Amino acid sequence: MITKRTKIVCTLGPSTWDKKSISRLFKAGMNVARINTAFIEDLKELKEIADIVRSISSEIALMLDIKGNDVRLNNFSTPIKLKKGDEIVIGSSTGDQIYPANYLDLYKDLKKGDELFFDDGYVKVVVEKISKKKIYCKVREGEVLNPGKSLNTPGIYLSLPPITKKDKEQIDFCVKDGWDFVAASYIRDKKDAQAVMKYLKDTNVHVIAKIEEGMGVSNIEDIIQVVDGIMIARGDMAVEMPYEQIPSIQKMVISLCNIAAKPVINATEVVNSMKNQPRPTRAEITDVANAILDGTDAIMTSGETSVGRYPDEAVRAISRIAVENEKYLESMLIESRIKKQDQIAVAMTEAAFQVIFELDINKVFVITQTGTTARMLSRYDLPVEIDAFVPNDTIKRQLAMTKGVTSYVFPPQHKTEDYSLLKLVEYAINNDLTKSSDKILIFGKVYWTEVDFPNIFEYVEMKKFLKDMKDKLEIKKS
Ligand code: PGA
Ligand code: MN
Repeated sequence: MITKRTKIVCTLGPSTWDKKSISRLFKAGMNVARINTAFIEDLKELKEIADIVRSISSEIALMLDIKGNDVRLNNFSTPIKLKKGDEIVIGSSTGDQIYPANYLDLYKDLKKGDELFFDDGYVKVVVEKISKKKIYCKVREGEVLNPGKSLNTPGIYLSLPPITKKDKEQIDFCVKDGWDFVAASYIRDKKDAQAVMKYLKDTNVHVIAKIEEGMGVSNIEDIIQVVDGIMIARGDMAVEMPYEQIPSIQKMVISLCNIAAKPVINATEVVNSMKNQPRPTRAEITDVANAILDGTDAIMTSGETSVGRYPDEAVRAISRIAVENEKYLESMLIESRIKKQDQIAVAMTEAAFQVIFELDINKVFVITQTGTTARMLSRYDLPVEIDAFVPNDTIKRQLAMTKGVTSYVFPPQHKTEDYSLLKLVEYAINNDLTKSSDKILIFGKVYWTEVDFPNIFEYVEMKKFLKDMKDKLEIKKS
């Protein structure tokens, strides 16, 4: 069976807010469901969607995308027609016609001459003056200002915290409800990243930093060190920075994440035209394939699956492009920059790289208590299937973001007997994870039983193993 290695994160929204649509996305290749909290008012909605997702499969990871200092316009009643030279006034109170909904103090961070962009950059204005807490702007480009749209201030540091009060309420709920990832918008530096990590310390939730503007790009190495993974948020980035820089930033960020063994998501407009048509454009097909060849772990859909007319076709298209183009990923021994305590895992994964080619191995069983060793192996893009054995469902779902890795909870839950390597292979046979022609490398740190030498590195030729161990195995299937 050809399995897709690249993982797919799907943003859910009005087009997919029901069990049937989400099951279709799952069948088409979705691994992670993302809820964009810009459109969530009520914790009840989060509970409702999480329960639907979990009723479809315990394999789908849940991601809460908090908005932090991602500024948006208020929901004024009707779109405003514009032409070049018009004046618009952005107020600072909820009584004004137009105001920055989640940052009324925006005027304090701006000065004459600053440029502002609305609605993903389709409207551009320049600040003429700031007077009595109001921002007076002249329109430079754009025809209509729509309510509730994005507001970008390229190159200007806003004095907003990376997590707001609303974000905290939603995070608290999701931690209690067992969600797997929090994606934090507009992470600009180590300080922002640490603030989010600190809020989530002592929880099992993994933090994904969304890199959306120039400061985040400049501080990327420090940010990667602190968080669990990265999202390349090309949507805002293409407004905040010269858009022609995005392809090289994408390559640089993916490569740094691969080196650090942290999952990386390539986001926004991946198959954007599929919001309205059932096939991707040639440029989109090539963009998805290139992100995969750059080494991304995951591809993310936004409007395609949240408001589009062809959500499952969009996911199927990404899956098709992935399976075909993953063939051309080249395995490379990469520079390790993993923190000290993972030295054994570094050595074992590097050795695995050599042994896989030397012994013609086609499958790896990696035993990992936190998922880290599996992430470290994944980054080599080896021509093998990687099955990770992990202690619980949360770690299993967090590996749903790591390319090329399929994970299993072992020992199967609610069993307390002493487990062994023999039991692991037996489990693999009984669950169709292996066939007799397999040459398997089994390695990692055994966590399920007290052993004197927990670090193992074993080579198993299944044909021989089955012959030798026949009478010791409890094989349920023929
Ligand atoms: P958003 O983030 O969809 O929450 O804005 C992704 C992006 O900016 O690309
Ligand atoms: Mn964004």
